[in-house]
Amino acid sequence: MRISVPAARPRQPSRHCLRAVRIRYAGVMTLRRLATLLAICFATTAFGADDKSLADALKVIQGKQFVDLTHRFSPTTPVWGGFGQATMSAACDPKTNAPYTIEKDGFRTTFYSMVGQYGTHVDPPAHFRTDGLTMDEIPLKEMILPLIVFDVTPMLDKDPNHALSVDDVQACEKVHGRVPAGAFAALRTGMSKDWESNPARFKRSPFPAWSLAAIKFLFEERHVTTIGHESLDTDTTDSMDSETWILKQNHFQIEAMTNLDKVPATGAVIVVTWPNVEHGFGFPARAFAILP
Ligand SMILES: [Zn+2]
Repeated sequence: MRISVPAARPRQPSRHCLRAVRIRYAGVMTLRRLATLLAICFATTAFGADDKSLADALKVIQGKQFVDLTHRFSPTTPVWGGFGQATMSAACDPKTNAPYTIEKDGFRTTFYSMVGQYGTHVDPPAHFRTDGLTMDEIPLKEMILPLIVFDVTPMLDKDPNHALSVDDVQACEKVHGRVPAGAFAALRTGMSKDWESNPARFKRSPFPAWSLAAIKFLFEERHVTTIGHESLDTDTTDSMDSETWILKQNHFQIEAMTNLDKVPATGAVIVVTWPNVEHGFGFPARAFAILP
């Protein structure tokens, strides 16, 4: 096995290595063999040290609470009326049209027929822009980001279709600090609670969402990387002004998120991924938060 060794700071060989050196040195050892062994010890230690920092990070992450920000989807999942419901059936052998079963074939699998924008999903820029980034072109590093959550639920009694404003963002910053560059800004509206119990409400319009001014402020003044929300659209109406602006700016977004009430306003990290569809225009995504 070849280990690639990053440029190493000079460091002491590990105790384990020194012990090995001493034991071997008791036998017959030329200077050249000793040098080779020490080099391996240094290399192993340096590799181990770099590896350890990632291992430490993983240990920290594994000690944290995770929150799923993704709905399960099925043929009854709320979807934009223009697309229609998904169908899911047993996949068949194309030669016989017989469905595969565990009893007969030792396995089973499902044939899915649905629009890409189904369930909790990613809208890549190419969804609205002919030369926009497709799903497979969005950088992997944009799939793990600091998560900021704006909560408009306290405003919905007064205005059930409230659109998050620049004033709302700035009021939130007074309490929680400036929205960091490179963040994932999510909008909590409580709409996700209707997902299974009352899917028809996802067809309602207007509904609580973003204002275009707040969207522009977040991307242009705060330089967030992306946004996400609980509704099936970015705007409070069918106008699609904000959604069009975001995607035309070559940013992606996540729609139909859930569990934002279980995530703090700041301090969490979001991981969001999707299948690597070649030239994909959108697909169900899996997003989760790692709590601070
Ligand atoms: Zn969408």
